[in-house]
Amino acid sequence: MNTKTFFIETLGCQMNKADSEKISGILYSLGYKEETTPEKASLLIMNTCSIRAASENKAYSHLGLWKKLKKKNPNIKIAMCGCIAEQTKEKVFVRAPHVDIVFGTKDIENLPNLLNESLTSYKPARKKGLSAWLPIIEGCDYFCTYCVVPYTRGRQKSRLPADILKEAREIASEGFGEITLLGQTVDSYGNDFNDPNINLANLLKELNKIDEIYRIRFVTSHPADITDELIYTIRDLEKVCEYFHIPMQSGNNEVLKRMRRPYTREEYLRLVEKIRTAMPDVGITSDFIAGFPGETDEQFEDTLSLIDEVVFDHCNTAAYSPRKQTPAAVWKDQVPMEIKKARLNILNKKVRDSVKKSHERYVGRTLEVYDGLARNNKIVHFEGDKDLIKRPVMVEIKEASIWCLMGEIFCNKKATCESGS
Ligand code: SF4
Repeated sequence: MNTKTFFIETLGCQMNKADSEKISGILYSLGYKEETTPEKASLLIMNTCSIRAASENKAYSHLGLWKKLKKKNPNIKIAMCGCIAEQTKEKVFVRAPHVDIVFGTKDIENLPNLLNESLTSYKPARKKGLSAWLPIIEGCDYFCTYCVVPYTRGRQKSRLPADILKEAREIASEGFGEITLLGQTVDSYGNDFNDPNINLANLLKELNKIDEIYRIRFVTSHPADITDELIYTIRDLEKVCEYFHIPMQSGNNEVLKRMRRPYTREEYLRLVEKIRTAMPDVGITSDFIAGFPGETDEQFEDTLSLIDEVVFDHCNTAAYSPRKQTPAAVWKDQVPMEIKKARLNILNKKVRDSVKKSHERYVGRTLEVYDGLARNNKIVHFEGDKDLIKRPVMVEIKEASIWCLMGEIFCNKKATCESGS
């Protein structure tokens, strides 16, 4: 019986999920087998996220359950990694003394040493499916006043184009038809190199040449990094999907300044207009925070009016949650929890109305659907042979709900079909 078995629990963003694939790849190369429940594994790994307090609490509550497993079987090893581990290494052992190993996001490749094993090479163990994540940039240089990412993942570090292209070809040869490029500020890719030719637009042009890839996506965008060149490149490249996730965070300029977000409401609106003029069917989604320190009712109203003005395709929302190490966490003008919760409810309703409006405009249109998603990232349901999910097909949209679009198959074409045609 294989005693080297592992179970990994992943909390948080796509970057964390991509990290878990890396960790799994390392463990497979060391001869471990993955288990689907913690009860069956000899190594339990909690890949944490510290963006919000709720996520941190969830991580510790899982660790509490694993403590019981370790009590029954003291040979079990428990490891904690990810953002919380990076940020508060020593404190983890105090709060959860049953944890054996703590390693941060920058320490993943050191895992074999921490397990007293040695390893020379490995490949990320990607989850089965049609779409694969490909991290192209680590960390962030923006230091928004509410965010822990620059402290947990460090300063921006782009990967070399040759390494990314090599990995993309491997992904294609493994049967994935879609690649999503990942980065906290993905369109600032290459800014940390001294070569102006290394940028996201040029990388997309190279990736577009890989035959077996039908579609290419990228997240997350920063409003200050989206250049005209990038917009027109995305418009012109057949495989790059017309979809941007552009966190706005607040619709009020004063709040944006205090968040240290280097753009204004007016600049954001102009950016959206430019993207939509270039690609009328583009999907634009965003993130908003309700109740940032000092936010007044009037300033919050500006966020609501901005959502009305833009009509987003989806938005992630959260009540402001103070994070250790960040400047805003210690500001005196924190908004009381009940006000934050009330604003979040209003914000969520506004987002639902916005999404409904955006979905309704697709009824009667025809969209290219691959792996259940339109090019603009809308979820599309349709009846048909299961295998149809494995290639782009055209679907005529008949109905729209808040969650998805429902349609009927229109024709079977390759990725060259244009949405809305
Ligand atoms: S740009 Fe994004 S990742 Fe970077 S500090 Fe701001 S919120 Fe965090």
